[in-house]
Amino acid sequence: MPPLHKKTMQQSITEYLHTHGYDRFNLKAVFFDMDGVLFNSMPYHAEAWHQVMKKFGMNLSREEAYMHEGRTGAGTINIVSLRDRGYEATRTEIEEIYAEKSRLFNLNPPAEPMPGAWDLLCKVKADGLQRVIVTGSGQLSLLDRLNTHFPEMFTRELMVTAYDVKYGKPNPEPYLMALQKAGVSPHEAIVVENAPLGVQAAVAAGLYTVAVNTGPLPPSVLLNEGANILFPSMQAFADEWHNFLSCVAQN
Ligand code: MG
Repeated sequence: MPPLHKKTMQQSITEYLHTHGYDRFNLKAVFFDMDGVLFNSMPYHAEAWHQVMKKFGMNLSREEAYMHEGRTGAGTINIVSLRDRGYEATRTEIEEIYAEKSRLFNLNPPAEPMPGAWDLLCKVKADGLQRVIVTGSGQLSLLDRLNTHFPEMFTRELMVTAYDVKYGKPNPEPYLMALQKAGVSPHEAIVVENAPLGVQAAVAAGLYTVAVNTGPLPPSVLLNEGANILFPSMQAFADEWHNFLSCVAQN
């Protein structure tokens, strides 16, 4: 399936190199977001956010929850609190709301791996590229499950999680940290992201960003944040991986 984006892969790569003043890519690593990219966990997060805010007298639609994906829990709570009540939540209230949100999330069965994720990871590994996790998640259950579902794909040393960062997405910090951990420059890596704030963070870190639209948002939301190319699913990107890589090599 061709990418939805009207620009071709080749054009998007040429444009990226030109904008950032690089002659060519020297691809060594792929940075993977986790929720909505490797695991189909976002429907559970969106539902838990919707329910918990309702319980505390505020309104956050499931679709809006996707717009906040990647933000810290406290950040999301305060945006909604300011909008709906005109004041920020107290520290105690934030802890209470976030604990309840986590409880609701954990009532679900474990999130399934995203269709196409394993296929893409195998191709990336076979091509000798490093795989790095860059997630805002602190859900230990998901981090533990990475090795179960994606054996021999990731190491703890090449992971940036909620526990490593101070600011988190949409700040470029997690992606800058990933560059440092992997020991690569921006023209030696690409990012796979599904969320508007994640795309924003990756683009701000100067990285070529592949958006995979695995949720309900219109593709324009991801492209407007600066994604270099967009695929409708992880499987679609996996199917195009070798074409993508030959475009990278041609530049
Ligand atoms: Mg995500």
